[in-house]
Amino acid sequence: MSDIINVEAIFGENVFSLGKMRERLPKKIFAELTKVMDEGGELSLETADVVAKAMKDWAVEKGATHYTHWFQPLTGITAEKHDAFVTNPDENGHMLMEFSGKELIKGEPDASSFPSGGLRSTFEARGYTAWDMTSPAFIKESAVGAVLCIPTVFCAYTGEALDQKTPLLRSMEAVSQQALRIVRLFGNTEASKVTPSVGAEQEYFLVDRQKYLQRKDLIYAGRTLFGAPAPKGQEMDDHYFGTIRERVGAYMKDLNVELWKLGVSAKTQHNEVAPAQHELAPIYATANVEVDHNQVIMETMKRVALHHDLTCLLHEKPFAGINGSGKHNNWSLVTDNGVNLLEPGETPNQNVQFLLVLACVLRAVDKHADLLRQSASNVGNDQRLGAHEAPPAIISVFLGEQLEDVVEQLIETGEAKSCLHGSKLMTGVSTLPDLDKDATDRNRTSPFAFTGNKFEFRTVGSSDSIASANITLNTIVAEAFCEAADILENTDDFDMECHDLIKRFMTEHQRIIFNGNGYSDEWVAEAERRGLPNIKSMVEAVEALVTEKSVELFGKFHIFTEAELKSRAEILYETYAKTTNIEALTMIDMASKHIIPAVTKYTRFLAETVIALREAGADSSVQSETLTQVTAYLKETKSALNVLISAQADAKAMTPGKEQAFKYRNSVTPAMEALRRPVDALEMIVDKETWPMPSYGDLIFEV
Ligand code: ADP
Ligand code: MG
Repeated sequence: MSDIINVEAIFGENVFSLGKMRERLPKKIFAELTKVMDEGGELSLETADVVAKAMKDWAVEKGATHYTHWFQPLTGITAEKHDAFVTNPDENGHMLMEFSGKELIKGEPDASSFPSGGLRSTFEARGYTAWDMTSPAFIKESAVGAVLCIPTVFCAYTGEALDQKTPLLRSMEAVSQQALRIVRLFGNTEASKVTPSVGAEQEYFLVDRQKYLQRKDLIYAGRTLFGAPAPKGQEMDDHYFGTIRERVGAYMKDLNVELWKLGVSAKTQHNEVAPAQHELAPIYATANVEVDHNQVIMETMKRVALHHDLTCLLHEKPFAGINGSGKHNNWSLVTDNGVNLLEPGETPNQNVQFLLVLACVLRAVDKHADLLRQSASNVGNDQRLGAHEAPPAIISVFLGEQLEDVVEQLIETGEAKSCLHGSKLMTGVSTLPDLDKDATDRNRTSPFAFTGNKFEFRTVGSSDSIASANITLNTIVAEAFCEAADILENTDDFDMECHDLIKRFMTEHQRIIFNGNGYSDEWVAEAERRGLPNIKSMVEAVEALVTEKSVELFGKFHIFTEAELKSRAEILYETYAKTTNIEALTMIDMASKHIIPAVTKYTRFLAETVIALREAGADSSVQSETLTQVTAYLKETKSALNVLISAQADAKAMTPGKEQAFKYRNSVTPAMEALRRPVDALEMIVDKETWPMPSYGDLIFEV
């Protein structure tokens, strides 16, 4: 209880930040480096050598023995291959630690085994990593020692992106260029860059590690594939924002310290809705840094958990029947002279630049709802979206009363004369102040909500990288800005033209605005009337990537070539098939080797008891009834298991691709559900001592 954490002292301790570079680099070198960071271009090899030496000296002082190019291949997680700073000893057997500029800026991992969706075959497997100098290097400390991690992009020999980072950086440049055209129209001549700011709120579960190790489904699939509900769920709302238990608190404390050392501004922590569920939110950062930070957060969450004999589950739906986890991706656009383009100000109705930006965002989201939906889909999220605990699969925008009113006025009359203002919130207690009320309430059911001066994209899954979501957001908004700028840069009457354009975009795209309850069935029907896409699953969403519209969009802004889009679609289909295959095999394994044998033992015990009771002339009706019931479920289990075994075999035998992915979804997934039903029923009646794994109650209430 007594050790005091000095946050100021430890914050960023393990980051080779701009400040440290300024301290450690000659002025000229530092100037060259920051110029390239701001304006792009290439570092000379001499400069890179100086930077590399300074970086290595700093890292070695901090105990680092290795460095790695840290990158984000299309596995959704990060990859690293460590190299020691060791060189050949001299004739005296003396070794000098070395790290060159070349090693800093470029690497060539033998990376033929990463998914490339057909972009590379193993015989031409060259893949390169290149330093993303706009995201700082950091030192990761773990059992393997201290390793200097250099954030990099990962590309094929032919220049195609094999990672999440490359297209993200491309999309940041695209939206910056187009947004600059917009701010110039409004007289901002100072800004030279517009950057997406992103803050990702991360949800997670913590379970006891020893219990976790007794569940094959958690080990192989990251989620439970069987499990009867505990007597208590989340219905009392007593976990949400509840007092943090000591064991979890100790974990959070360590997690914060580790993250602060890595320069991640972990800010908010609380218990979430489901028992054993929690959330951490950092302060927002530039999109690419936040993408890295979110990966660091997920990795650190898992690592620190081990020190507390806990396991951190990042899966979107670890437990059926209680809430799953997501990641709210908060997004805004800020000029380098400090203007947030999504800041409405006191009187949004008079803020023409804001209204134009808003109109462009509405247009972007409506036109590319399918792409946004796709960008936030992964296998786990299929278990969560649209299940009345997470945003629906239908993309819509929540604006809130104030902005909705402004938009309505604009559409109806072409002018927004007035603007609703927040009133006072009367507390009704004389000793308490009456509070100023925001003009807008919140809506937790919307997938894409305006929250003050940012949009919050709430559909992203908890285990997913936030890169895709931000690539898509940046690009679709860049396109709308580009269309607007093309018109407005070539007009004699800017005011009139701008006014007309805002009205037109808002009118054409008002169908995307929805302020009501996104969880309701009425909304599903209403959305269908409005013609909004309702894409129910990940495999159905993939198609959006390769439509003509998508190829044109991503091609125009040089984010993805058609080949890159196709490769990504391939990878997604394969990921779906492989993940579902693992889940199916895990269920088959658990049912065959653990559940059926355990229940069989129990039936033998019951049968023997019935015989013994009968012989003794005692009443055996309860035991005998239980035996009948258990046997019926056991039979159902066995036949469902057989169905799953053959469905899995059929799907597995197919050629990887779209058709196979759909086969998994349409035949393996239902077979998995059918096997789960009798097993969960058995769990409710079979002796707890006999049941071969910890129950939901053991897992989520006994952390
Ligand atoms: P809310 O309670 O509305 O979800 P918070 O203040 O808790 O908002 O912020 C949630 C996340 O959004 C945090 O990571 C925060 O840093 C981030 N955030 C706040 N303002 C912005 C902004 N202008 N742009 C991007 N992210 C932001
Ligand atoms: Mg939020």
